[in-house]
Amino acid sequence: MTKPVFRFAPSPNGRLHLGHAYSALLNDDFARRYGGRFLLRIEDIDITRCRPEFERAIYEDLAWLGLGWERPVRRQSEHFADYHAAFLSLKGRGVVYPCFCSRKDIAEGVACREAGGEPWPRDPDGAPLYPGTCREISMGEIQRRIGAGEAHAWRLDGMALRALMPVPHTYRRFDREGREQILEARPWRWGDAVIVRKDTPTSYHLSVVVDDALQGVTHVVRGRDLEAATDMHVLLQTLLALPTPLYHHHELVLDPTGDKLAKRRRSEALAELRADGVTPHAIRQRLGFDPQPTPST
Ligand code: GLU
Repeated sequence: MTKPVFRFAPSPNGRLHLGHAYSALLNDDFARRYGGRFLLRIEDIDITRCRPEFERAIYEDLAWLGLGWERPVRRQSEHFADYHAAFLSLKGRGVVYPCFCSRKDIAEGVACREAGGEPWPRDPDGAPLYPGTCREISMGEIQRRIGAGEAHAWRLDGMALRALMPVPHTYRRFDREGREQILEARPWRWGDAVIVRKDTPTSYHLSVVVDDALQGVTHVVRGRDLEAATDMHVLLQTLLALPTPLYHHHELVLDPTGDKLAKRRRSEALAELRADGVTPHAIRQRLGFDPQPTPST
């Protein structure tokens, strides 16, 4: 039997905090308990926000916590060709369309629809669903605008997809005791999601799905804040004929006021805690993990 594969996949756009430590330690803990592998993946598709010093800090912080991972580490910025191939496959199936809208265009489109008094639906992150403006553009016009070099994103065409795949999508969730449950994915609540961004030749959803499959990830362990994204991932896996891993979405580590930790706040950054003399052992204990046994010499 092949070994289960777990991964921790941070984005190097800030310093890791206690919430990341929890996610990384939980992945490692599962991998140990299941006799599996633990991978680290650097999710740096956002070339304007990701910085080499943050990537170096990820390695430093995780090593300090006592974690080890397989090499070489997959860095998404080195694999745009893989995401492009997946995009071409979606395009070939006729389930994407180009979108030339700016944020302002979208806000105006939504305001126009809300002018009637009805609130426009939001996606799970609270952003208004795309009103579908560019879906109406003719093929000739699309070719002209793309030919003229106009910047554009690509969106999934929810209407075409629903016709193509009317059956509900499901995936398996597992808990810390290894119990499994089947859940229904509801990708439609994301509307016509962006699958290739204007500013980078892929998107979070597309790259994660492609990488999880290419790396043979069998178990995805990540925070509750990404639970709704799984719906989109399951849809993409079905469209691209990729396997769907099992999922576990853990509780988030909150700050003393009950808010989600953020990379821009320094107080819970691992580097800050380390500078204050907090030990990896204390962090593991604070996060509810057993201390690692001291290696015998
Ligand atoms: N790169 C994402 C983040 O840092 C995590 C993606 C995932 O685990 O699927 O929030």
